[in-house]
Amino acid sequence: MFPLADRYGRRFPYLRLSVTPACNFRCTYCLPHGYHAGASTAGPLSLPEITRLLRGFTEMGMHKLRITGGEPSVRKDLTDILRTAAAVSGVTKLAMTTNGTLLTHRLHEWMDAGLNAINVSVDSLDRAAFARITGHDKLDDILHGLDMALEAGLPSVKLNAVLMRDVNDNDLPSWLAYLRDRRVSMRFIELMQTGDNLAFFRKHHVRAEVLESELLSLGWQLLRRAADAGPAREYRHPDYVGRIGIIAPYSKDFCTGCNRLRVTATGDLRLCLFGEFGIPLRPLLQSDDQLEDLVRAIGGQIGRKEQGHFLHEGRTGITPHLASTGG
Ligand code: SAM
Repeated sequence: MFPLADRYGRRFPYLRLSVTPACNFRCTYCLPHGYHAGASTAGPLSLPEITRLLRGFTEMGMHKLRITGGEPSVRKDLTDILRTAAAVSGVTKLAMTTNGTLLTHRLHEWMDAGLNAINVSVDSLDRAAFARITGHDKLDDILHGLDMALEAGLPSVKLNAVLMRDVNDNDLPSWLAYLRDRRVSMRFIELMQTGDNLAFFRKHHVRAEVLESELLSLGWQLLRRAADAGPAREYRHPDYVGRIGIIAPYSKDFCTGCNRLRVTATGDLRLCLFGEFGIPLRPLLQSDDQLEDLVRAIGGQIGRKEQGHFLHEGRTGITPHLASTGG
């Protein structure tokens, strides 16, 4: 039996590791007032701790790793983290989610270190709207970085946009123009409620299915999902090079396809983005000879994973915002 499997028959070959809760953006739905370190004095996992963590997970069958945050690129040793992760035996896909602010400067360095997939958050293709959402007038530079990634032949280039009523929910035409000739996959993510964003959520939440119906009426076709794929329902269209994915966490059966686990920047295992607890793995990352204990601890916790999240009931668990857990 696959070691990382739960009592509902789901397997978890995919780990999302946050390397920092800090972020340099102030996205309206996540950290509208910017990042503040708060009371916690525990720093993020060090390179040796990350290495041990990844050895433990690959031992149990994890092969796809996503580095996320906060904003991973605020970590000065990010390239070393990528290089180290890529060298861990068993990691076959190394992805990163980033706001793209350092893409033009670091892309080649990251690719040389072993990065083979990137998701860049771009909530709007309109420069002013982008600045309003993120607090930074950086759209042009980020789009330039994305084109560089395509030119450099990065195997997987994706864009994330959080769908928000009266903010960007009428932007499909500009996205379609962008996707016509670009080998990128665009992900529309339905806005999720978190501990801190209830008022924003109530005002701007819009069901992703609305957009999905629009795509179907325009001739976009649903593709089959790969076993280690992310949560998106992916669509293609014969007239477009790019693809569109829909991430609809409020849709029926969303959690049935869950294939990922998360570890926070300080080393807590989170069985669900919206779970009620974290399991501290850091004490088991202090020396190389703890590998067996680590594997046993992870294996012993998988059975506690719930069948689904409780977002429909407004229960957001211990996640005040996604930067805290690793979005
Ligand atoms: N800083 C990186 C970035 O900008 O992509 C990585 C971390 S960010 C928390 C990861 C993803 O979560 C981004 O695409 C972001 O737009 C998305 N996100 C954050 N809060 C969200 C929310 N409440 N609902 C849906 N998506 C959210």
